[in-house]
Amino acid sequence: MQFIDLATQQRRVRGSIERRIRTVLDHGQYVMGPEIEELETTLAAYVGAKHAIGCASGTDALLLGLLAHGVGPGDVVFTTPFSFMATAEVIALLRATPVFVDIDPATFNIDPHQLELAIRAWEAGDPRSYPLPRNIDQVGLCLRGVITVDLFGLPADQDAIADVAQSRGLFVIEDAAQSFGGEYKGRRTCGIAEVGCTSFFPAKPLGAYGDGGMCFTSNGALAEKIRSIRIHGQGRDKYENIRIGINGRLDTLQAGILLAKFEIFSEEVKLRQQVAKYYTHLLGGESSPVICPRVPESSVSAWAQYSLLAREEGLRPGVLKRLQEAAIPTAIYYPRPLHLQEAFSYLGYVAGDFPVSEDCARRVFSLPMHPYVSREEQEKVADTILSFPREI
Ligand SMILES: *Cc1c(COP(=O)(O)O)cnc(C)c1O
Repeated sequence: MQFIDLATQQRRVRGSIERRIRTVLDHGQYVMGPEIEELETTLAAYVGAKHAIGCASGTDALLLGLLAHGVGPGDVVFTTPFSFMATAEVIALLRATPVFVDIDPATFNIDPHQLELAIRAWEAGDPRSYPLPRNIDQVGLCLRGVITVDLFGLPADQDAIADVAQSRGLFVIEDAAQSFGGEYKGRRTCGIAEVGCTSFFPAKPLGAYGDGGMCFTSNGALAEKIRSIRIHGQGRDKYENIRIGINGRLDTLQAGILLAKFEIFSEEVKLRQQVAKYYTHLLGGESSPVICPRVPESSVSAWAQYSLLAREEGLRPGVLKRLQEAAIPTAIYYPRPLHLQEAFSYLGYVAGDFPVSEDCARRVFSLPMHPYVSREEQEKVADTILSFPREI
């Protein structure tokens, strides 16, 4: 059994992928070849954004989003501590200050109500009402924006977040690295907040055969900035540089591969729904030692991961051991919340600051998830988990 099965997918689109690769080898435009614009146009239409800008990774997509907003030293950006490193890393890389906000345990995503509390605590300079970075002097710092994360593929509650953000003039960047193909109130992820960022890392819902990412926006001015920053702050031509940028381009070969894989992507998103639904059917009972993820009525998860919670912290090691003995691969996303990572120790957060994230980090684990998990495999996974006594 595989945690993520890329081989089955490849067998389905191998011909297309090879044709796409051959085309690139024939035209030889390995950097910024025609496949880039074709992919940008195709995916912009898919998510419902006016502009798409291909880039080198999901991390670069976030970086481009922040740079386009002019984020730098003195700026504060709110985000969730229950995410992959990249989300908060890009804020810190620009010498801005990441300020963490705890998650909603039902969705694993940033809790809009707590975002409001964190902002109020900041505005009042009152860390007793909400944990703020202890080692950061607030003087001279400016609240700028929020990076939301659609963890495991489930969109964050963007409408509620927008209400809080707009009242303070904060920008919102959607880290949709895990949620490409997901929906929120009839809108596709990446097209919900002003800037949406995704990743084409091979294991993501739409994965390349290497690194890749994309920024989406319907704001023409931001799109132009992102395009320019992606290539060394390029102006009208190659040798006019109007701002400081990066080399953040997507490879032509990867764009070609993504175009081939996109042919079956909508079908794969549907298959993921079936896999998730069957896991929940099998494991969702009262006497199950695990709590299954629930998707709000108005959302569609892209099911990058099927992540569940052990009913109690003490149950997880035993359940994971039993799965391992049955040769069923699992993973823990994420065992340590970002505010407790050494890299962010300079902020001065301590254990207990974000109890929901910390509790989830101790109880969460993920099951094999991809469009091609068979019912038999799912039944084996469920039987193994359900054979574990709920009480310990
Ligand atoms: C994967 C991921 C990223 C980074 O994407 P890369 O393409 O690996 O740089 C950022 N945020 C989240 C939530 C991710 O899962």
